[in-house]
Amino acid sequence: MLPLLNTQIKRVLITGGAGFIGGALVRRLLRDTKVKIFNLDKLGYASDLTSINQSLAALSSIAEDRYQLMQVDLADAATTAEAVKFADPDLVMHLAAESHVDRSIDGPEQFLESNIIGTFNLLQALRNHWDKLPKERQQLFRLHHVSTDEVFGSLGATGRFSENTPYDPRSPYSSSKAASDHLVNAWHHTYGLPVVLTNCSNNYGPWQFPEKLIPVVILKAVAQEPIPLYGDGGNVRDWLYVEDHVDALLLVANLGKVGSSYCIGGHGEHSNKQIVQAICDHLDRLRPSKKPHASLITLVTDRPGHDRRYAIDPARIMEELGWEPKHCLEEGLETTVQWYLQNLDWCEKLQKSPGYVGERIGVIK
Ligand code: NAD
Repeated sequence: MLPLLNTQIKRVLITGGAGFIGGALVRRLLRDTKVKIFNLDKLGYASDLTSINQSLAALSSIAEDRYQLMQVDLADAATTAEAVKFADPDLVMHLAAESHVDRSIDGPEQFLESNIIGTFNLLQALRNHWDKLPKERQQLFRLHHVSTDEVFGSLGATGRFSENTPYDPRSPYSSSKAASDHLVNAWHHTYGLPVVLTNCSNNYGPWQFPEKLIPVVILKAVAQEPIPLYGDGGNVRDWLYVEDHVDALLLVANLGKVGSSYCIGGHGEHSNKQIVQAICDHLDRLRPSKKPHASLITLVTDRPGHDRRYAIDPARIMEELGWEPKHCLEEGLETTVQWYLQNLDWCEKLQKSPGYVGERIGVIK
């Protein structure tokens, strides 16, 4: 079996490692590699280090020496440059971003600052770092930019996104991510920076911040509160279990062709209505209540500009790199529901944190 990462890679800088997907990546690298991990994160409202601290506690004290947290805001060019110099990375996996579409509707500036200016500052710092590396390390170096399928816009009833789909972002979030993808490609073509990109579909799984769809539904249902379903519930997303995304990210970081992008999706197309119903069905079995949980489902005003359908054709990553998802939605969703039921105290802690917004956001009044 191939190692998770090229054994010459010794130092990995992960941005956004205190978030949902970045946290899963940090935990995997801690568990399955020997690399030194630098977790650069501004520690914003969506950050939580519980899962990483638990992993460190479960591993030996050697693991602690392999992990370093750097509280840095990428919007600050000088501290970003200092952090890159300090981490001296062989590989950078850039996940830091403001990521919640509804929040981007209410406050787009933060998305431009983090996702566009933040990526620009990181690129400038990495260009400077890469230019100064000795030849061998220069050849090894990669920036892996982690992006979303939302940059491609909205599909009708048929078709799927692939690496050749033109960009057509439609929300402040997706347009800021599209801009960051363009910057990364420009730094490759203009300055030669070795980059790979990925565009992934919606992720779900343990440790996701309680404002995102799947945790919201579970927590509302458990609290016996109305479960909000946007519009007619017919918006379709291509759901992928977060550990399958981590597998794909590591494959691309390790073996992806420099200058290429890879679409990641697990043939998990479901409407929001189907997802909400499936969660309610799991809860009826795992935590029965007087009435079926689905009786709490309440249609609410749709998100402005809500993209109707996303679906990914993952042929390139499957054929070139041999990736395939290990979890089907049925099983991954059940694991996720069980995990949230067992970790309600963690959710409550985050729901009480100052950054959490419990009420409906992203509606233009
Ligand atoms: P998340 O919101 O859970 O975590 C993002 C992390 O980035 C947070 O810890 C936050 O503090 C940090 N961050 C934000 N702005 C920063 C800045 N200016 N400087 C330093 N740190 C900053 O997000 P996630 O769901 O883990 O997503 C991670 C990445 O994957 C994002 O780039 C997102 O666009 C992409 N993505 C997410 C999904 C999904 O379904 N969640 C799907 C495809 C792609």
